[in-house]
Amino acid sequence: MMEPQTIFLSTSVAREKLIARRSKLETARAGLPNPDHLSRLLREVDAALEKIANDTYGLCEACHEPIEPDRLSVDPLVRNCLDHLTAAERRALEQDLDLAGRIQRGLLPAKQMSFDVWDTFYHYEPLGPASGDYCDLITREDGELLFFMGDVSGKGVAASVLMAHLHAIFRSLVPLRLPIPQLIERANRIFCESTGGDHYATLVCGRADATGEVEICNAGHCPPLSMRDGRATPLAATGLPIGLFNNTEYATTQLAMNRDDSLLLYTDGVTESRDRSDAEYGMERLMRATTGAAGTSAAALVAECRSDLTAFRAGSPRTDDIAILAVQRAR
Ligand SMILES: [Zn+2]
Repeated sequence: MMEPQTIFLSTSVAREKLIARRSKLETARAGLPNPDHLSRLLREVDAALEKIANDTYGLCEACHEPIEPDRLSVDPLVRNCLDHLTAAERRALEQDLDLAGRIQRGLLPAKQMSFDVWDTFYHYEPLGPASGDYCDLITREDGELLFFMGDVSGKGVAASVLMAHLHAIFRSLVPLRLPIPQLIERANRIFCESTGGDHYATLVCGRADATGEVEICNAGHCPPLSMRDGRATPLAATGLPIGLFNNTEYATTQLAMNRDDSLLLYTDGVTESRDRSDAEYGMERLMRATTGAAGTSAAALVAECRSDLTAFRAGSPRTDDIAILAVQRAR
């Protein structure tokens, strides 16, 4: 329930916005030969001002319940709550969501990659049109491969915007060639400053070179699995999620990977999947399921993980975005 004071303030802000919009529309209309469209907008503004005058502003025209405040602040002419959109409004919203999803898919790296001694493969599956999971692979001319797997707090479109933000931060910082701990520290500061501490992201960032050396930083993310000789070893977090505190230090773990060794990275949508009896999939089962495929290929490892998860869920509905990335030393 909102405080009466808040309602009063937001209504007076809306009134100011509407009056400003009205005068802009009138000015624009005067200079146009065919101002039908602007006349229609003007009528909508007047209708909203009338609602303010008789205290029905901000209420859904269908159910008379308050409209979501965040939508109203973006568009003071919104007339219905999300549950009571007109068919045209619903179509427009669906189109926006589809576009957000398409833009996000455009940010993903190549599905399958071979780079120097490394092969990579990933699976990326949003729950809705857009995902809060972050997956990226960046290769450098010096023969280094950087891999990222993360999960932004929240779900849906808001989380996907933050995911795109994270993507841009790392894409801008990577060419600076910072050591991994400093790379994450810088990204953390930028993320903190831009989200004001309201959001965070868990993240694994790794650097792999042509000799098989791997350096990994785990900022509060689900432990990646290091797979060697049919055994999976979880790599615990070495730092806090990013976005929580402005000045956080990060440590890394070093690994020397031999031919056929792999790393499996995933988001909690995998391990927190539930079956029909509401039991959790969990890291233990993921470790058991994937050790058999560990020495095969990055694609086979991801496929094994997916098929075991599908068998476990046995048709129970998904509740989160899913991302799985395998990095294998193939040569
Ligand atoms: Zn409604």
